[in-house]
Amino acid sequence: PFHKSKGQHILRNPLLIDTIVQKSGIKSTDVILEIGPGTGNLTKKLLEAGKSVIAIELDPRMVLELQRRFQGTPFSNRLKYSIFRFWPFRLKAELVSPRSQVIQGDVLKCDLPYFDICVANIPYQISSPLTFKLLAHRPLFRCAVIMFQREFAMRLVAQPGDTLYCRLSVNTQLLSRVSHLLKVGKNNFRPPPRKNKTLGSIFRQKSVLSLLEKNYKTLRALQLPENGASEDTEMTMDVSALGDTGEDTSMEIDDGADEEEMEMEDGDTRGSEFKDKVLGVLKQGGFEEKRSSKLTQADFMHVLSLFNRAGIHFS
Ligand code: SAM
Repeated sequence: PFHKSKGQHILRNPLLIDTIVQKSGIKSTDVILEIGPGTGNLTKKLLEAGKSVIAIELDPRMVLELQRRFQGTPFSNRLKYSIFRFWPFRLKAELVSPRSQVIQGDVLKCDLPYFDICVANIPYQISSPLTFKLLAHRPLFRCAVIMFQREFAMRLVAQPGDTLYCRLSVNTQLLSRVSHLLKVGKNNFRPPPRKNKTLGSIFRQKSVLSLLEKNYKTLRALQLPENGASEDTEMTMDVSALGDTGEDTSMEIDDGADEEEMEMEDGDTRGSEFKDKVLGVLKQGGFEEKRSSKLTQADFMHVLSLFNRAGIHFS
């Protein structure tokens, strides 16, 4: 089972992987850095193309999977284990073959080793901090070939005057030459990435619930003065009046069922009182089955005010 919270969308199209490797222009002398090797589909091809691969993977289950996968190679008898220390965390690094090393840990929290080229299909949540980490990395490397979500990629290459031109475009282009290599459809991944989730499925995630519950309890402990309430109520009235224009009920379901939602969520979210409370709020406003990608500003304000009235705050 893949963990959505770790952005685990595995590349399953071998032709696409070949194209990525080709476009990367890897030399046989290259030390390659791979971030998030997952089950190793890309790692395998990188190993064939370069001198060595250093892969940094957050999920210990994936590290095991990689070991298993590469153990069958002629190098298996040379499998070694070693411990490396990275400030400020101690991470475990394992040599899965003499030419590949897997570091188990969070790429954002470790010092990057020397590399000539970085090739990665990254978890999208870390796009921005990882980009800046790579841009700040010294000694300089030759290039990085990274799979980003389309909008992020378009922001990286945006030119003055483009709608997407932003701080990210300016900073990246100041420090590097960026180009767009190829467009990849979501069906090349398993499970296919989708940000088109229903509010119900977003609020059932353990990470979301536990953060909200923490805020909720902290505020209760502080005995939040009730004076915010009237404001909230007023806002709800405005907002629902707008909502009644009935523009967008967005109940349509797009192509294919929600297979992604059938995958393992990040943790066990068996019934808790707090979860029932949260889902109760969503149901109350008819939001549970709606998709956040289709909500209007007014809808967001409406759902926010319903949460606030139930004593649930977001910061
Ligand atoms: N490279 C594989 C492929 O293309 O099939 C998997 C790519 S998947 C999009 C991203 C991988 O990054 C997952 O295996 C996930 O566990 C790992 N990951 C997530 N967050 C990470 C982090 N902060 N540091 C290192 N790896 C991370």
